[in-house]
Parts: sequence; structure tokens; C-alpha cells
Amino acid sequence: MTGRLTGKRTIVTGAGSGIGKAAAELFAAEGAQVMCADINGDAAAATAAEIGDQAISLGVDVTQPGDCQAMTEQAASAFGGLDAVYSNAGVDGPGRAGDLSLEEWNRVIGVNLTGKWLAVKFAIPHLIEAGGGSLVLQASVGGVIGVPGIAAYAAAKAGVIGLARQMAVDYGPDNIRVNAICPGTVPTPLVRATYEKRGGFSATAAVSADATVDEMIEAAVVRHPIGRLGTTTDIAQLALHLASDESSWTTGAAIVIDGGMSVA
Ligand code: NAD
Repeated sequence: MTGRLTGKRTIVTGAGSGIGKAAAELFAAEGAQVMCADINGDAAAATAAEIGDQAISLGVDVTQPGDCQAMTEQAASAFGGLDAVYSNAGVDGPGRAGDLSLEEWNRVIGVNLTGKWLAVKFAIPHLIEAGGGSLVLQASVGGVIGVPGIAAYAAAKAGVIGLARQMAVDYGPDNIRVNAICPGTVPTPLVRATYEKRGGFSATAAVSADATVDEMIEAAVVRHPIGRLGTTTDIAQLALHLASDESSWTTGAAIVIDGGMSVA
């Protein structure tokens, strides 16, 4: 590794699994100190333990302002300040608009939009104190193009892109950059849960209604011109670039990383 985040003090939410876990490990390998946060505190602790001395962990529900504030203050206190937050934690959100209950809508919007905001809100004064920093918000290609059967999820992700743009305008003068990442399909537990609940419906036109999750994941490959699904490392590499000073003139961007899915 090449020390691309040497000296950076960072937080990664959703660090117990999938993309967040890969990002926490990559950030640390590139020299960062990392607060590994997840609603599954044991999983966050396991990621931190794998990383070693550069990492700490906390059980955090990103829908709870008190949890997000504690996460931020503990990280800033342990590391002597903050430079970057990867607001990544999220949940699956299957269902068409006409089929969703208000409870399910609120669950998905609560984590995937409100939680994305709360996880960065308390970091702002610390980034200003540091002379600037980077906030990376995890959106989705589903926030950019229509993807079947994920109404609340897509609405939340489009909201995240709007939040990144808006915050980039408000905090640019403080040298705080805010960007959104819009991944295509990466077969994590979140995607498996989505396919499981969504059933054969619309994963692709090519699968039958009784297709297994593995068959749906296999069939999803055809939507990605590059010929494979994404890996957690593919997405973590973009988060690393956005968290680092390499991207010091990138702000307000919604960067699609999807193997060509959105242009096919
Ligand atoms: P994942 O299920 O592997 O990881 C999500 C993590 O978030 C889990 O560890 C989970 O415990 C945690 N989490 C859930 N609710 C939380 C809460 N309220 N507070 C704190 N932590 C919480 O899924 P993933 O695919 O790695 O997803 C990470 C992010 O990437 C999500 O925002 C997701 O919407 C986004 N994303 C994923 C894909 C994909 O194809 N996997 C595509 C686009 C966007």
C-alpha cells in the first residue's frame, strides 16, 4: 500500500459487513485511523480487531442522533480530530410504491437517507476545525436511473445525491468536500436480502418467479456490460479516492461505479 490516507482520521459506518468493511480495511491499509461503526457492534468490533491498533469500534444506529454524536465525539477524541467520514451504512428496501406500507417506507428512508445525514452532521465542526475534510455519502445507481421494485430505496438514494450536492455548496467555503458514490450491483448480504424479498419479480427479465437468490445474482450480470458484478473492493477504492486529498477539487459529484449498468 502507498499511504494515500496517511495521517487521516476517519469514520466508516456499516463497517461490519460488505462495502463498509472493505473500506475500513482499505482506509487503514492506506494509513488512516478508522472508527468502525455498525448497528451490529460485534461485527464492527471484529473489523476493528482485524485491522489492529489503527481502529476503534462502536455499536451505532445511524437513525439515532445520540448514537451518531457519540460515534463522532469518540472518534475525534481518540484520534485528536477528524478528516473524513464514509457514511455508508444501509439496509435493503424492496417493494414497488403501490405495495409498500408506510412503516416499511419509513424504515428504508430512516436508514438510507436520514441516517446518511445524521452520520455526517456532527462531524462538520470537527472538519472545520481541521481546516477542511471529506464527506462521502453512499448512494446507488438506483438513485440515478430507474431500477425495478425498490421505490423507497431509490427515493432515499436520490435524496442522498441531492444532499451531497447541497452540502457541497454550503460547506465548500469551509474546504469540506461532499460527494456521493452510486454503485451498481455488488453481491453483499444487502443485495441477497433484496432479491430474497423481491422474489423473481424484476431482478432481470431473464429469471423466473421461482428463481433462487443465486440464480437472480447470476442473471444480474447481464445488466453490467463489463461482464461481472462489482466487488466490495471496487467500491472501497472509489471511497478511498474521495476520502483522500487526491480528489481535492471533486465536490458535489455523484459518481457512478456500476460496470456500465446505467449506460447499457
Ligand atoms: P451490507 O449488508 O453488507 O452492509 C450494510 C451494513 O450496514 C451492515 O453491516 C449493517 O449491520 C449496517 N447497518 C444497517 N443498518 C444500520 C443502522 N441503522 N446503523 C448502523 N449500521 C447499520 O450491505 P452493502 O451492500 O455493503 O451496503 C453498504 C451501502 O452500499 C448501503 O448504503 C447500500 O445501500 C449501498 N449500496 C450497495 C449496493 C450493492 O449492490 N451491494 C449497491 C448500491 C449501493
